[in-house]
Amino acid sequence: MGILGKNGLERADGEREGVTKFHLRYTRSAPLSAARLATLQGWRRILFDLGLIGQEATDSGPLGFGNVSERCHAEQDPERRFLITATQTGGKPVLTPKDYSLVTGWDLVANRIDAEGPSPPSSESLTHAIFYASLADVRYVFHGHSPEIWSCANALGLPSTARDAPYGTPEIAREVQTLLALPDCRAAGLVVMGGHRNGVISFAARAEDAGHLLIQSLARARGLAPTHQA
Ligand SMILES: [Zn+2]
Repeated sequence: MGILGKNGLERADGEREGVTKFHLRYTRSAPLSAARLATLQGWRRILFDLGLIGQEATDSGPLGFGNVSERCHAEQDPERRFLITATQTGGKPVLTPKDYSLVTGWDLVANRIDAEGPSPPSSESLTHAIFYASLADVRYVFHGHSPEIWSCANALGLPSTARDAPYGTPEIAREVQTLLALPDCRAAGLVVMGGHRNGVISFAARAEDAGHLLIQSLARARGLAPTHQA
């Protein structure tokens, strides 16, 4: 078993993103075909162009944010597996098949991810796994950063995890699972990560729905009166 824990950067506010917060059992293997990744590639590029995926300057250096995943089709792949962008790819405008990883299993209780591919998976793979484990019909999970959506969560009526539940902890995992048990939250298809600054996650059975939810929320936030915007 390998544990990645020192390949990220420390944020000025003490929150660590880009650090793998779970036990990772990773096996290097060949990239998937470009055709297999086409849907994720298309939406990932749109979210990058909108600034929902990208890279920010910190005191410690540039730090990538945002990631997208796709559950493997149940009929063709009965195992619990999903494709996800690799760790620290947020700053790249265009990804190649070498920038994707295949998560082959997870254990939420043991905080463990199994993965294979040309690069290790996103540091936020376990969060994506919570959505796939909780909602059988979800096939796409998109995670972006948006100060506008995040700061307007209440005004927009979006479900949100508590701001005092630090990201990457068992508490936030339990909060997400509790939220996803609520019919209103499942219907919203989008969760604001209160304890993860600017973090927003959309989830849906179709990629276009997960993408539209993020874009619609961004448009609604920008349409609010300036008093709602922090
Ligand atoms: Zn994030």
